[in-house]
Amino acid sequence: MANNFDVVILGGGSGGYACAFRAAELGMSVALVEKDKVGGTCLHYGCIPTKALLHAAEVADATRESTQFGVSASFDGIDMAGVNAYKDSVVGRLYKGLQGLVKARGVTLVEGEGRLVAPNAVDVNGAGYEGRHVVLATGSYAKSLPGLEIDGERVITSYEALTMDRVPGSVVVLGGGVIGVEFASVWRSFGAEVTIIEALPRLVPGEDEACSKAVERAFRRRGIAFRTNTPFKSVDHTDGGVRVVVESGDPIEAEILLVAVGRGAVTDGLGYDTVGVKLDRGFVPADERLRTNVDGVYALGDLVPGLQLAHRGFGHGIFLAEDFAGQNPVPIDDMGIPRVTYCEPEVASVGLTEAQAQDRLGPDKVESLQYDLAGNGRSQILKTQGFVKVVREKDGPVLGVHMVGSRVGELIAESQLIYNWEALPSEVAQLIHAHPTQGEAIGEAHLALAGKPLHVHG
Ligand SMILES: Cc1cc2nc3c(=O)[nH]c(=O)nc-3n(C[C@H](O)[C@H](O)[C@H](O)COP(=O)(O)OP(=O)(O)OC[C@H]3O[C@@H](n4cnc5c(N)ncnc54)[C@H](O)[C@@H]3O)c2cc1C
Repeated sequence: MANNFDVVILGGGSGGYACAFRAAELGMSVALVEKDKVGGTCLHYGCIPTKALLHAAEVADATRESTQFGVSASFDGIDMAGVNAYKDSVVGRLYKGLQGLVKARGVTLVEGEGRLVAPNAVDVNGAGYEGRHVVLATGSYAKSLPGLEIDGERVITSYEALTMDRVPGSVVVLGGGVIGVEFASVWRSFGAEVTIIEALPRLVPGEDEACSKAVERAFRRRGIAFRTNTPFKSVDHTDGGVRVVVESGDPIEAEILLVAVGRGAVTDGLGYDTVGVKLDRGFVPADERLRTNVDGVYALGDLVPGLQLAHRGFGHGIFLAEDFAGQNPVPIDDMGIPRVTYCEPEVASVGLTEAQAQDRLGPDKVESLQYDLAGNGRSQILKTQGFVKVVREKDGPVLGVHMVGSRVGELIAESQLIYNWEALPSEVAQLIHAHPTQGEAIGEAHLALAGKPLHVHG
């Protein structure tokens, strides 16, 4: 006999649990089906553990560089057991909190592997769960390339990289996107020799070109090697690790190869296609209200083509719950979702890159300004380099904000308000920023765009 709910959600990651919580808050009965751990990729194998590693990396760098600040400290090395214990304690605390929230919200957690068996029904180990609305939220997995086998030891993905019990002596990172540059950054700070290979012409290729250039300059300074325009060809095992052959240039030997070439959607064998849900290269296309082509079946998060970010999943989940409750929420526009890459230096952006803005509006209609962090007191105190770049429509609103520098990820909240509220630079210029903060650089960039630069040379 089937259990009946208002909403049945298949997958308890960022998107699935956000949908469950908001739907329960709005008075709906909710079944959340999860085969592993509530919290999904982000909490257990993604955002949180990687950012803990990146923080440990920052501590290592600060210790090494302490004499620059007149502080005597010696860097004796990385104790991976200690780093992992710290990382796991952060994840553990958040997981406990999340489990508490599942209970407190009255969400029925169904533990087990689910399968869509009808537009309104999910089967878990022979038990049926029927919902007026069914939400597909099974997320994503680390992809590889054709013929490139992940052995979990020498050729690994981010999944294995998060549980390594040692710092590798040397690593080749295949892929210069977000996940690739974050691990490259961690391992370099931990003392490894790192080489990134990227088929496209630049690192973080989804970002504004100026950000890529700044990251590449910073990585050169940090001794992180990278080869762009360099497609991967093959990998062999050697006595000490791997030998990576690329389309051009010499092969590279290293202890391990991290494959970070993107993430595919988890849809195989889950009954989606059998029930008639249309798939596109494994992903589930959905309209702006996150409806699939099958009535009553919705999809969210990494499953839906677009930005693969935890907060997009949260946003999708909340949107769907409010839609089910008849609240007519505003559809989510991927362009207004902030993006942060947490390598050192960080990259943060929202809205259109300069090239995208020029494509859409025409080059004559776009203006941009790059405010150098050299003029920002707080950034000088931190000894970081970088910039805040603002792209605007000529005589019109801000179309994009792009930043590079230590800790600039924390500046994205204001930038996202500026972009999403379609603010004019002159309006932002009126807002007074606290001194000395890095946020001042945002204020300064808008002052300059409004024709009244303050701390700007030339
Ligand atoms: C290394 C790494 C670092 C990242 N860092 C960031 C970051 O800093 N910031 C950011 O915003 N994003 C980051 N991400 C991306 C982020 O993790 C994802 O965008 C987010 O987790 C997507 O949420 P989701 O709910 O769509 O899917 P997921 O979190 O993948 O959740 C899907 C859930 O469904 C479950 N599931 C799958 N199939 C079934 C089934 N048949 N039955 C039952 N349950 C099932 C899975 O076990 C999983 O728990 C990172 C990802 C990785 C890999």
